[in-house]
Amino acid sequence: MDLFEISPHLDRAKELVERDEVHSLRYACLELRFCFELIAYRQLSQYGDVVPGSLSKEWKPDQIIRTLASFDPFSDQSGKMDIGYPSPDGALPEEWIAVGSTQAVSWREFRKYYNKLGSYLHAARDSGGSKILQSQSLATMIADLERVRSATLILATKNVINANCDCGNIVHIGEFEFENDEFAVCGNSKCNALYRKVVTEEGAKVLVPVKVFTATCECEAKIPVPLDKIWAPFRCYNCSLSYRLNLRYTQLERTK
Ligand SMILES: [Zn+2]
Ligand SMILES: [Zn+2]
Repeated sequence: MDLFEISPHLDRAKELVERDEVHSLRYACLELRFCFELIAYRQLSQYGDVVPGSLSKEWKPDQIIRTLASFDPFSDQSGKMDIGYPSPDGALPEEWIAVGSTQAVSWREFRKYYNKLGSYLHAARDSGGSKILQSQSLATMIADLERVRSATLILATKNVINANCDCGNIVHIGEFEFENDEFAVCGNSKCNALYRKVVTEEGAKVLVPVKVFTATCECEAKIPVPLDKIWAPFRCYNCSLSYRLNLRYTQLERTK
C-alpha cells in the first residue's frame, strides 16, 4: 500500500546498504533522509488546513513531527483502528471490523534518526573519524521505516483551540501547545497577528489578541511586536530579516 510513498527511496537505500561501501552508505543516508521527510510532510498534509499557524511555515521534518505530536497525541503512536455498531442498550459493540493500522515513529526517535543521518552527510566526518558509518548503524531505522511503510491507515485527530482572526483566517493551536509561553501566530503572512493563550476562570482555553506594534517588513509581511518586547530586536516570521526599533527618549514635562 505504501501510503507515505517512501518505497522508491527505501528500496534504493536498502540496496545501497547491501553494497556496504563507504560511499554507497552515504547515498543510503540521503535516501533515508528523504523517507523521513516524506513521512513528516505526508502526516502534516493529513490535517488539511487545520494545522497550528506556526507549522504552516515549518519545513524541518523533526519540528513538524514534534509539533504534530503536541497537537495530536496519536500522530506519533502506532495503533489499530476498528469500528463497531453499539448494541441497542448502549453497551460496547460485540463485533468489530478492522479499518487499518497506523505505524509511526515517535518524535524522539524521529529526531534521533534524522539528526544521525544528517551528521553522516557532512564531509568533515570522514577525517575526524568521530562517527564511523557502518551498515548496522542504519539497520534499526530501516526496520522502523519498513514498519511505517506497512501502515494501512494515516490517522489525524484534531485537538485544537482556535480563534477567528480579523483578517478572516482561523488561527489553530494544539491543545498541548497551550503549555508553552510562545504566542500563537496567525498563518496569514500579510497579517501575522499574535494571540496569547489564556485559561479563563471557567477553565476554558482561549486565544486572545495581543496588543502589538506592527512593522511591515521589506518582504511585505507584517511583523507584530508585543509592546513588552519592543526593546529587543525582532525577526520577520516570513523571511527572517531582523530589525530593531530606534527609540527616542523624550524628557518628561510637568503639566500644571
Ligand atoms: Zn490574521
Ligand atoms: Zn520579511
